[in-house]
Amino acid sequence: MFIGHFALGFAAKRLDPSISLGTLFAACQLADLVWPVLVLAGIEVVEVAPGSTQVTPLDFVHYPYSHSLVALLGWGAALGVGYALMRRRGALAAVVLGGLVLSHWVLDVITHRPDMPLTLAGSTKLGLGLWNSVPATAALEVPLFAAGVFVYARATTARDRKGRVALIALCAFLLVTYVANLLGPPPPSARMVAGGALAVWLLVAWGYYIDSHRRPVAAPA
Ligand SMILES: [Zn+2]
Repeated sequence: MFIGHFALGFAAKRLDPSISLGTLFAACQLADLVWPVLVLAGIEVVEVAPGSTQVTPLDFVHYPYSHSLVALLGWGAALGVGYALMRRRGALAAVVLGGLVLSHWVLDVITHRPDMPLTLAGSTKLGLGLWNSVPATAALEVPLFAAGVFVYARATTARDRKGRVALIALCAFLLVTYVANLLGPPPPSARMVAGGALAVWLLVAWGYYIDSHRRPVAAPA
């Protein structure tokens, strides 16, 4: 899943408006932020295998540290508790961020074929295989994304023009990238895949930028 993860990040703003959209993105996409780093370091393995599923030409051979249930429970607890302690926030922020980290596993299990590890050993793998159908994937993910953006747009208001334009630009960019991924040719190599996936870090920065130019609706100006 791709834009579906961002959908939950956007929507979570309503649960705790004090958390920046950038931090929410970092949580819902923590697995995909860590993954390319581990692939480039040779610790996790992905291969280009056209036809693997209809949606992705990738074979996720080994990625227990970024994508197993156990790892994401650990990453979620670390991020949630770490954030709450460092920013002196309550349990709500920890639960929202930890829950978002974990949501990545749930959404990926829905879309991936059975390649999502349960534990670090990686012997048990789950996946419902929504990616075997492009229309079914888009039918779930696009409305989910639209709903997430809608919730964020309602929960916040732009402080200035940048707060409006940057949000619209990010949504357009994500949708165009999504369609290009669905319909485009397979990437030339696994290293190119991992290198390209590092761009998710820029999307986190984009989230911080957007959020700094918007404010929660309920908060005083
Ligand atoms: Zn993922």
